[in-house]
Amino acid sequence: MSRVYNFSAGPAALPLEVLDTIREDIPDWQGTGMSVMEISHRSPEFVELAARAEANVRELLSIPDDYSVLFPQGGATMQMAMAPLNLARREQRADYVITGSWGKKAWKEAKKFCDAHVIADADDENFTYIPDESSWDRSDDAAYLHYTPNETIAGVEYHFIPESDVPLVADMSSTILSRPIDVSRFGVIYAGAQKNIGPAGITLVIVSNDLLDDAPADIPHLMTWRSYAESDSMTNTPPTFAWYVADQVFQWLKRQGGLVAMAEINERKAKKLYAAIDASPFYSNPVRKDARSWMNVPFILADDSLDKKFLEESKAEGLTNLKGHRSVGGMRASIYNAVSEEAVDALIQFMAEFERTNG
Ligand SMILES: *Cc1c(COP(=O)(O)O)cnc(C)c1O
Repeated sequence: MSRVYNFSAGPAALPLEVLDTIREDIPDWQGTGMSVMEISHRSPEFVELAARAEANVRELLSIPDDYSVLFPQGGATMQMAMAPLNLARREQRADYVITGSWGKKAWKEAKKFCDAHVIADADDENFTYIPDESSWDRSDDAAYLHYTPNETIAGVEYHFIPESDVPLVADMSSTILSRPIDVSRFGVIYAGAQKNIGPAGITLVIVSNDLLDDAPADIPHLMTWRSYAESDSMTNTPPTFAWYVADQVFQWLKRQGGLVAMAEINERKAKKLYAAIDASPFYSNPVRKDARSWMNVPFILADDSLDKKFLEESKAEGLTNLKGHRSVGGMRASIYNAVSEEAVDALIQFMAEFERTNG
């Protein structure tokens, strides 16, 4: 068997230990004589799995008791609609801070359902910074404030939680579980699974219970957070396999020492990769140093005619999915939890060698 170092932005690398467990579990899960995909979500075995997954994610993120943990389908993109649907009325204001493509997408979606208003936008400098909080043009009467703590494409991350008098709604798809966070500062946190949680097909939503009753009665049942909270996320048939894998990832994270340990590793991985980029005129990263992402590290080659060669040769060395997003160009290394420090070291070594032979 040969495994590559996978720097994919998403769906992204999963820990090998988790994949090994899945392979062993598939034909006969927990002595049931069935795979987890073939068993009822109402069976005692699956109900126990669901409860364990919730308990594990509560423990990892120290989620307060007055928050619900939901596992809907639909990905982060569906939450971009569910946030305004559950929290605002058509005439009502909602504030959006845009620091990248995902935040912009969230705002565009929200505009269909409420008076979504951009209070800060970093597009003027190509999404390479976070506008100073004091400059945000906040509305007095906003139902909530939405922002994107980590912008996956531009590689821009908030290393602080914004102040807010209204519920803070955060799309944490590409940063969730990379470090401890103070959940009590948020109204709603949502994340698609396929970066740091598990396979695509399941979504993690953490919502303050006092926001569950805000949904109007005339929106589809499946679009209300309350329906998931009241049914242990079994409003309809849930994505059972993805849920099972997510629980395996939560267990793996606990074995690594939890999020304090992960944060240490993630910070070290990111720092050494940025240091290698900054140390060389051959590579560069345009993001302001205080806003650089721990999870997604875009970098460009000074001579972009070498891009194709860089991608071919890195792939031949077992370093895959380094092509940057088409809107940014160049390269992007996504270094989520499951991407080991060894993988980052191998990338840094390859970059130095590529520079030596092509610089
Ligand atoms: C990947 C990503 C999304 C899209 O997630 P889906 O699960 O595909 O809907 C949204 N926001 C951010 C920040 C992302 O990284």
